[in-house]
Amino acid sequence: MRALLLGTGAADIQAPDQCRCANCAAVRQHGGRSRRTYTATLLDGELLLDCGATVPEQLATWAPRAALRYLLVTHPDPDHFDLDAIAALAARTAAGHLAVCGSPAVIAALQARSPRIPVDLWPLSAFQTLVLGPWSARALPARHRGAAGDSLLYVVSRDQRRLLYATDTGPLLAETRAALNGTRLHAVIGEATFGLQTSGIPDLPAAHMNFPLLCDLRTDLLQEGVIETTTPFVATHLSLHFCPPHEEAAAWLAARGIQAGYDGREVEW
Ligand SMILES: [Zn+2]
Ligand SMILES: [Zn+2]
Repeated sequence: MRALLLGTGAADIQAPDQCRCANCAAVRQHGGRSRRTYTATLLDGELLLDCGATVPEQLATWAPRAALRYLLVTHPDPDHFDLDAIAALAARTAAGHLAVCGSPAVIAALQARSPRIPVDLWPLSAFQTLVLGPWSARALPARHRGAAGDSLLYVVSRDQRRLLYATDTGPLLAETRAALNGTRLHAVIGEATFGLQTSGIPDLPAAHMNFPLLCDLRTDLLQEGVIETTTPFVATHLSLHFCPPHEEAAAWLAARGIQAGYDGREVEW
């Protein structure tokens, strides 16, 4: 399976336009891999995880020939779920040939949109598994804002290769951890929104993780035999304001067995 990280930022990708802090200044001055768009990931050129407003342009830049068939939405926050962006993607595929899966809140928002976006809708709830052509997607509850069940993590499988896609979420809920026990994962892409910030933010750890919490998740999964030390483990959903510039973040994470995501990065397993 091959993952293309189309975007690796959090909801605050505009922060460097206004903010005078050192991290935002580094993004303004040096850009490069520190400049991130809304988090989204493309698997094998056909299955997209999340679709914020920046996704159509990122897709055109990094995967102009992608034959998109499936969209899994993690939750209905605007950096992950933008109806105009989904309409733009649907227009790239034959009518009704884009299958969109998500929680009932996501499906309801798509159904309420007028004029209707020509996609196939596939509601799914926590602990359900959906088979989509060669893919299967198991939904697990995230620790995030909104009503229970609105925010989902996914175990996405194809040919017995399994990816855990864990954004947006605080440390995994006990029931999600329990559901992963006994599973063998071949890759993990997880969020680390707040970088090295450890306190003073209401969403940490209620709705998001930072670098140390993502390290804790890797340690837990290793101890439970769900992953191995060589299993690709990738950080995404990195706030431009809270995370250090990419090279610094990448060095800190690499010393702990984690690859820092950046827009356009490919990971294969
Ligand atoms: Zn987000
Ligand atoms: Zn800042």
